[in-house]
Amino acid sequence: MSMNPQGRPSRPTASGGAAVDTHSGSHGLRQATRLLFDSGAADRTGVDLPDPPKVKKRIGNLARKAPIGLPGLSEPQALRHYVRLSQKNYAIDLGLYPLGSCTMKHNPRLNEKVARMPGFIDVHPLQPQSTVQGAIELMHELGRWLSALTGMPSVALSPKAGAHGELCGMLAIRGALIARGEEKTRRRVLVPESAHGTNPATAVQCGFTVDEIGAAKDGRVDLEELTSKLGPDLAGIMLTNPNTCGLFERDIKTIADLVHESGGYFYCDGANFNAIVGRVRPGDLGVDAMHINLHKTFSTPHGGGGPGAGPTVFSEALAPFAPVPRVEKTKDGFALVEHEADVDGDPFGRLCAFHGQMGMFTRALTYMMSHGADGLKQVAEDSVLNANYVLAKLKDVMTPAFPGACMHEALFDDRFLKDTGVSTLDFAKAMIDEGYHPMTMYFPLVVHGAMLIAPTETESKKALDRFTATLRFLAEAAIAGDTDRFAAAPRLAPMRRLDETQAARNPVLRWSPSADKALEPAE
Ligand SMILES: *Cc1c(COP(=O)(O)O)cnc(C)c1O
Repeated sequence: MSMNPQGRPSRPTASGGAAVDTHSGSHGLRQATRLLFDSGAADRTGVDLPDPPKVKKRIGNLARKAPIGLPGLSEPQALRHYVRLSQKNYAIDLGLYPLGSCTMKHNPRLNEKVARMPGFIDVHPLQPQSTVQGAIELMHELGRWLSALTGMPSVALSPKAGAHGELCGMLAIRGALIARGEEKTRRRVLVPESAHGTNPATAVQCGFTVDEIGAAKDGRVDLEELTSKLGPDLAGIMLTNPNTCGLFERDIKTIADLVHESGGYFYCDGANFNAIVGRVRPGDLGVDAMHINLHKTFSTPHGGGGPGAGPTVFSEALAPFAPVPRVEKTKDGFALVEHEADVDGDPFGRLCAFHGQMGMFTRALTYMMSHGADGLKQVAEDSVLNANYVLAKLKDVMTPAFPGACMHEALFDDRFLKDTGVSTLDFAKAMIDEGYHPMTMYFPLVVHGAMLIAPTETESKKALDRFTATLRFLAEAAIAGDTDRFAAAPRLAPMRRLDETQAARNPVLRWSPSADKALEPAE
């Protein structure tokens, strides 16, 4: 039996490790837990409220006639359920999270501390502005940092995710075309085939048609094809830089000039800003609009950890069309200007009821100010260095999708798995057994069996050494024909291999009580 570096068996025993049946259903100290709705008892409750006073019912025939059917649980029962669930969750606070395109970086605790200050957390969006001057000033300061870092004069803070920021940018482009009287003639938006799916979706949502441009052999935009697709019906281009293959679009300035000469606008998907923040200003490259995922580059919690925030910056040409509300410095302080009639230009409208994700603004500005301009530049440098370290450590056993150095993510294809019987999916599942969240798989679509790794700047050399050693071990195991390790993976996770096609095609999104399973009291 092979032993891991801690001297314990590195493979499950013949009976299959965690797959082994236990009497309790728990494995070691990992507790089994059922659906909350399958637990509970009628006589349990987590709260102890006095009976409500008798008052006249004023809801007519809307009063409930039968019990609501919620599980009756005591406080410790409910608490245990959620703690057990949380322990099944993989998180950036537990280990390396190499998801490419997601920039899953450490969320500094200083951000949390500042976000919880009463002046920022205990405010309400409908409060009179004179009572929340500090909060509005914070938004203004965040906007100033974003403008300085991107070299773009105007910023809309309200978009609530990257995709929402794309919508904001493309609606501003549509606004500009309407102002030019060209919204009916300029309908076509160029989108490289490596783009994130949200790009074409956004363009279509805004009434444009999508025209795909292929990738050249080196994984970048095919300039010849792009040139052939310019024309008087062009609304603009949506381009990611660095692109989703982890490569810098070297011709970006030429692309911007060509699109502008042909009367279109340049939307840049800024999700990969982490690779260039503090080093390159997109405004200098000819970008007209770009969203910034605060939950990627600026370290606010990501995914299940918190809401996204996608502030969008604009060039001089698009600034008049930016949405309301706008944050302005006035002679007596700061103002959130809500009405279109009260701002300069011709805003396309508004994107959401209030002003965006205040809690994320606080965290992102804390991150920016604690790093400073030099620290943010180092973020970009270290994230690129770390990705290239991963690339260098693995390129002889795994197959890099493109030759040469990468930006902040390393992209591999599945050529190294050819004829091994192991697929990208199997490889990713085996990583779970090794305690790693898989990298992004099968994206970008232009690369066969893609594996996209973004280690981020917050991982130590030691963490990267252990991670790359694990991937080397798995790659060598696949090449040596150890297919069992992959076919059955994950063997050690709370859930084994799921039928993902079935789950995607026929998702069960609604719990319904099963007649044959009576509620069982929780522990
Ligand atoms: C994450 C991402 C988006 C979308 O951002 P959300 O905040 O998830 O809506 C768009 N483009 C790229 C390249 C991304 O990585």
